[in-house]
Amino acid sequence: MKTALTIAGFDPTGGAGLQADLKVFRAFGVHGLSVVAAITAQNTKRVNAVFSVSKIIIKKQFETLMSDFRPDAVKIGMIYSIDAVDIISDMIHKHSLKNIVIDPVTLSSSGTPLVEDGTLDAIKKTLFPLSKVITPNIYEASILTGIMIEDKKGMEEAARVLKDMGADVVIITGGHLEEIAVDLYYNGNFHAMKKKKLRGNYHGTGCVFSAAITALLALDYNPLEATIKSKDFISNAIKKASHPGKGMKILNI
Ligand code: PLP
Repeated sequence: MKTALTIAGFDPTGGAGLQADLKVFRAFGVHGLSVVAAITAQNTKRVNAVFSVSKIIIKKQFETLMSDFRPDAVKIGMIYSIDAVDIISDMIHKHSLKNIVIDPVTLSSSGTPLVEDGTLDAIKKTLFPLSKVITPNIYEASILTGIMIEDKKGMEEAARVLKDMGADVVIITGGHLEEIAVDLYYNGNFHAMKKKKLRGNYHGTGCVFSAAITALLALDYNPLEATIKSKDFISNAIKKASHPGKGMKILNI
């Protein structure tokens, strides 16, 4: 069985973060491994607290897993601190990990910062050059590049700048272009991927999308095929979303 590792945040609702990633890996028949790099106290309405996980704890989880497994792909999601970025990049180098997907998580949908000051810069400098795919949304792409993205042209400009930071493939997700959600895929050539926008407040969409790409890379799909299939996967998961709490809906994976 293929294996995928997620290095991400703990979300008690199960709708985002590590728990969602593991469900997605399972849905694709890939065995999921996880390293917890941050802990949140949140429900489907709000994030009440965010805690970092120390370098030592991250390293110990990593080394213990790596003495036993060799993941076929790795997803990096919410990592709160600069220290976490440093140790994760050391571990990726040390264990020569490949097929790295980075979801540069910044804010929760309810507006709470999920990273400390400086973490995004560290991710940009240290982790992007190691990555195969990065999946910022428009807001994250704007912050990472300093380009205020307002239209397709802005998305393209930001994608070029992001690719120059070292990823093989940049996918900017979720255009604000009215009824159509446009994801822009860039590997040196642009592919605009359009889908009808599904209205509503959903928790964990970014996590689920990047986890699906990771699972498919583990299964040897190329990044473009993985992205097309992941878009279908997330559309279905949104269509079948449930409302187990009182706030945002949770995707049905
Ligand atoms: N909590 C964790 C642990 C996450 O990793 C993320 C997103 O990546 C979120 C919350 C935010 O999810 P949402 O944007 O649906 O609020």
